[in-house]
Amino acid sequence: MRSGLATLWKSKETPPIWHLAHGSIELCVADLDGTKSSLSSLIDVDDFISHLWKVHLAVKEEGYAQTLALGLYRSDYMAHFPSGATAPSLKQVEFNTISSSFGGLSSLVTSLHSELLSSPPGNPISYPSHPLLDSNQPPDNTSVETLAAGLATAHTAYGPSKSSPALPTCILVLVQEGERNVFDQLALSRQLTRVHKIPVFRLLSSETLDHTHIPGSNPSRPLIYRPPHAEGTEFEVTTVYLRCFYTPTDYKSERDWEARTHLERSAAIKCPTVLNQLAGSKVVQQVLAEETGPDHLANFLSRTDPATLARLRETFAPQYDLSVSGRGRQLALDPETAANHVLKPQREGGGNNIYKEAIPEFLQSLPEPEWKRWILMELIQPPADAKNVALRPDGEVLSGHVIGELGIYGTILWDQAGGKVLHNEQGGWLMRTKAKDVNEGGVATGFSSLDSVILY
Ligand code: ADP
Ligand code: MG
Repeated sequence: MRSGLATLWKSKETPPIWHLAHGSIELCVADLDGTKSSLSSLIDVDDFISHLWKVHLAVKEEGYAQTLALGLYRSDYMAHFPSGATAPSLKQVEFNTISSSFGGLSSLVTSLHSELLSSPPGNPISYPSHPLLDSNQPPDNTSVETLAAGLATAHTAYGPSKSSPALPTCILVLVQEGERNVFDQLALSRQLTRVHKIPVFRLLSSETLDHTHIPGSNPSRPLIYRPPHAEGTEFEVTTVYLRCFYTPTDYKSERDWEARTHLERSAAIKCPTVLNQLAGSKVVQQVLAEETGPDHLANFLSRTDPATLARLRETFAPQYDLSVSGRGRQLALDPETAANHVLKPQREGGGNNIYKEAIPEFLQSLPEPEWKRWILMELIQPPADAKNVALRPDGEVLSGHVIGELGIYGTILWDQAGGKVLHNEQGGWLMRTKAKDVNEGGVATGFSSLDSVILY
């Protein structure tokens, strides 16, 4: 993990982030009808999407036992400043609906930078004097408070135990094997236990079926957890928080899919549900950004005024599918236009995209029916003049031109039966900085450094 110095953000004007955070959040409240045709064309060619869809269909057939759903989201942006533009604007890179990470560590990095900024000049750990840094501090970063409050709200909304006799309740965090980002996750657990006084347990996703069960005799289908260290004690899980199950490698066998179905059919509130995970797929983001055809965005946000809708739309970069007669295919196959685009599959977690000149050859190497798995997105063009330094884990200091990527956290709890929103909060942020010539992003993948924002 690396940590950069405070990035100089270019404008003190509040960007229209909250519009997008709230707007996109509400999109996920709606069902997927508007985008079903795009998703269903993927179901034939994308095993992962198809498997997720099957989990939803199986639970739908039996009937969902829980209508409340929780989202802990992060909406990612870059500053866009193409040559000829008079001012930079913010464009959305992607919207994360599952395992949105780094809320725990980003607020620590904000504290670190704030501490360094307030240390007196001449102190070996203080910053060199600079007019932009003088008596300036990063804005408050409430990511831990916001994300933990979302989980706590779901926990409370679940209500009393559905077991008889009643069991103590808890939140269950499901994690990947060999997780390196454990301290990011523990920051949320600590907030939940210390501030909200809610018992929180961590469990490997591969051990879900070993340590949880749904009593066949209880039609409410509560999810019961038996901690491995105290098999005699039982807890009823109010909320399952997934920091796993977002990538195909998290499903090593049919048993892992069984585990996902088991969670989905339980009465525990899922963060996220399978449907909400699908709503975050790249194809849904592409469909919402579409400038031609049915206006899905306006349909989903039917109660949003046109001016807000327009501001929201301004944060989208052009995105295309690769259908036979579509513009996307044309742009992707021509090396000249491909150079201004990124090709994205329906995956999360970084390291999956194909960039610029590599796109035409990559597509040609795939059987054509598989092209449906990808969407094409115009490259956001960040300002080219920002400079910064980054500290590598081995102590090496890199310096040079950099690009910043800003993530904004939000949480939502809603009732799928009727679509009533019970909680919808935005708060906390993540600043990632990477070298200008690096295409990919992501801190866990080693491309970016955690950073802070200075407004001026
Ligand atoms: P993932 O789900 O793998 O995180 P992203 O859509 O966030 O996928 O893409 C990974 C990284 O690629 C981003 O963090 C960003 O640095 C870069 N990237 C993605 N889309 C664009 C774009 N349109 N313009 C410029 N860079 C992009
Ligand atoms: Mg990303």
